[in-house]
Amino acid sequence: MTEQKQFRAIKGTRDIQPPDSTLWNWFEQSARDVFESYNFREIRLPIFEETSLFARSVGGETDIVSKEMYSFPDRSTSSDATADAGDLISLRPEATASTMRAYIEHGMHALPGNVKLYYMGPMFRRERPQKGRYRQFYQIGAEVLGQSDAPAIDAEVIEMLMTFFSRVGLIRTTLYINSIGDKNCRPQYVELLRAELRKVKDQLGADSQRRIETNPLRVLDSKIPQEQEIIAKLPKISEHSCDACREHFAKLKEELKLRGVSYQENWRLVRGLDYYTRTTFEVIAEGLGSQNAVCGGGRYDGLVELLGGPPTKGIGFAIGTDRAILSIQESGNLPKLPGLDVFVAWLGLEAYPTAVGLTKKLREAGLSVELPGEEMKFKKSLNLADKLGARYALIIGSDEVATGRFTLKRLADADQKKLSEYELLEYLESERRGTRG
Ligand code: ATP
Ligand code: MG
Repeated sequence: MTEQKQFRAIKGTRDIQPPDSTLWNWFEQSARDVFESYNFREIRLPIFEETSLFARSVGGETDIVSKEMYSFPDRSTSSDATADAGDLISLRPEATASTMRAYIEHGMHALPGNVKLYYMGPMFRRERPQKGRYRQFYQIGAEVLGQSDAPAIDAEVIEMLMTFFSRVGLIRTTLYINSIGDKNCRPQYVELLRAELRKVKDQLGADSQRRIETNPLRVLDSKIPQEQEIIAKLPKISEHSCDACREHFAKLKEELKLRGVSYQENWRLVRGLDYYTRTTFEVIAEGLGSQNAVCGGGRYDGLVELLGGPPTKGIGFAIGTDRAILSIQESGNLPKLPGLDVFVAWLGLEAYPTAVGLTKKLREAGLSVELPGEEMKFKKSLNLADKLGARYALIIGSDEVATGRFTLKRLADADQKKLSEYELLEYLESERRGTRG
């Protein structure tokens, strides 16, 4: 026989297996519950888009677009021979661009009120894989689009985010907020920053030196120890923002206080994406080492217009699901999640039809039930039930079939009851309601 190749998941990708997948589903469902309570609705977006959509919105100078995207020419699917053969498409590195594209494409600006959307799913960035950093990772994001840029909208979005985090037990977090100005005041500040940075250029590393010209704001983001002292002395945007931006930020802080959301200001929080204006925010969590940002967000007034849509204000965030879940796991603050409720230990072929019928009823009642397809020795059966983590074994032998009373054994303490079918369903259902809230 020839030796078989052992296939492995591609570097930077991974399988989310049970029981982790149960935790993931619970996490995502909690997001749906919280977001929908704020009247956000889901948008399901494609996983690939035209490369130029990301280049235009995220920004060609960003790390994401300049070096992290998975892009490839698509074979032309059009039968029209004159159509461009091989448009460049990319796996999405984030989903705000797609959301904007969809907003414009479907004329959502005509919808009443603010358009409040959320999404979840995989994103792709070609980065160096490490703990909390993958090439296929997952985000849950939300966006508000409309005519208003009221600070209350920013505050509600942030409140919703922090409510979700506390709902899923992600509580040892810090919320950082900042305002990075708008098109009226940011350009002057950026020029000022650039001028100041040129003066200290020699003391900066290669990346920061390059950013002085390409994107000076990003220098503020630097984590390089030797640069910290220099950055601390740079001019702060808050000292150079226009009245409108200043007022917007002050109102946002008032609103956050009103809503009981605690935050810290961080004037160096500029975020990596080009499209942000005014409010930016980030949440960091414990237990993640240096990959500790679990959410990034901000306001992006003007992005819709940049993509050819009508003047629109917008704000949103993206949660890094992988990291958020890692942090919950590290904290040990895990929820009690549903597992296998009942293992049906049937004995003797004459018990099998009863076992099949009863299993069906239990499943219809919403319980998770395992029914062995082949006869097993009693001891082996109970052993397997135990190993599978079943809470109960339901014993069905010829006695039980004859009397119509079944033995329900709680595996944790071997407590045993004889119950009729009606009592059994009644008991398990009420018990489940109790343990699962
Ligand atoms: P970082 O500075 O950690 O690279 P980022 O600024 O690139 O983050 P955003 O583009 O704002 O991140 O994405 C929002 C969130 O998505 C991040 O806070 C993080 O939790 C998560 N995230 C980003 N890139 C990855 C990745 N490669 N693997 C896992 N999670 C990621
Ligand atoms: Mg990044």
